[in-house]
Amino acid sequence: MRILITGAAGFLGSHLCDRFLGEGHQVVGMDNFITGSPDNVAHLMGRDGFEFVQHDVTNYIYVAGPVDGVLHFASPASPIDYLEQPIPTLKVGSLGTHKALGLAKAKGARFLLASTSEVYGDPLEHPQTESYWGNVNPVGPRGVYDEAKRFAEAMTMAYHRYHGMQTRIVRIFNTYGPRMRPQDGRVVSNFIVQALRGEPLSIYGDGSQTRSFCYVDDLVDGIFRLFFSDRAEPVNVGNPGEFTVRQLAERVLALTGSASALQAHPLPEDDPKVRKPDITVARTVLGWEPKVPLDEGLGRTIPYFRALVEQNSPGARTL
Ligand code: NAD
Ligand code: UDP
Repeated sequence: MRILITGAAGFLGSHLCDRFLGEGHQVVGMDNFITGSPDNVAHLMGRDGFEFVQHDVTNYIYVAGPVDGVLHFASPASPIDYLEQPIPTLKVGSLGTHKALGLAKAKGARFLLASTSEVYGDPLEHPQTESYWGNVNPVGPRGVYDEAKRFAEAMTMAYHRYHGMQTRIVRIFNTYGPRMRPQDGRVVSNFIVQALRGEPLSIYGDGSQTRSFCYVDDLVDGIFRLFFSDRAEPVNVGNPGEFTVRQLAERVLALTGSASALQAHPLPEDDPKVRKPDITVARTVLGWEPKVPLDEGLGRTIPYFRALVEQNSPGARTL
């Protein structure tokens, strides 16, 4: 197949390029580098079957030749990024999703949307099943991301129902691994970079809020299976192992051997108090479940950040 991946120079997009190319497909990667980096696809430049196009997908998308699949991953994803870039975030979730769907329709391609556990907002149901409609503050600061993704899901389902298109929606839960930026601002990259630099780990609030962390290889495998399934309704893909932010900090300190202290920061507005996927659908429909536990995934991620820190990369970025 020939696959278009938007957001290809980002953390997840670049791993998806690797997976599709590795399975013998052709890949067109597209990105405008708003939060991504050419470094993430540098290893693919010149490789047979890979093309890269620098383009902002909120504008009309042109790709010459056949396209069999579109995976729409373009969007700022770290809270610090979408809080700094509220309007580009709303635009890529709305206009960008519309353009990517339009291209898929014109080419007769299958479409997969990267959605998020943020559609559940600060959830009142725990763990979160796909049938839960969520608890989102549309006018709060995080609303720019949450509502853009909720709109993107609605648009995707409309193209499925009205145009009869083959569409897929993955609701991704917190994922980590190599190729996150040291300055990404999400909790796993922040804590590892701070620990390796001997700086205090920034705990937002009292650190009792929970997240469920999925290693990138597991996530990519779930997405790959979903793309080739026939499931149009959203599917949660994430690791149900749930940890408080403070527990994560302790694991990072233990695995890096760092003596960094913990430092309290204000809790961001509307920060979800708990998050954990119910993955019954992924297990039964995709035959998928994560294989990499937190300590093992952190153990694979720390050397990547250690190499960057040793090259004097920028430090962590906090709210
Ligand atoms: P990322 O910031 O590393 O990658 C996003 C990429 O999209 C970047 O390379 C960026 O430059 C590109 N992009 C943004 N706007 C664009 C535009 N208008 N035109 C072209 N390219 C554009 O983030 P990520 O973690 O790789 O996330 C990728 C996708 O997965 C996003 O849609 C995000 O919402 C979703 N997601 C990620 C997670 C996670 O834990 N990583 C969780 C839930 C959902
Ligand atoms: N967090 C933290 N310190 C940081 C970054 C994040 O304590 O340096 C907390 C944040 O408040 C949230 C959790 O870690 O409760 C996960 O944050 P992240 O930005 O990774 O993603 P989110 O799940 O909020 O989208």
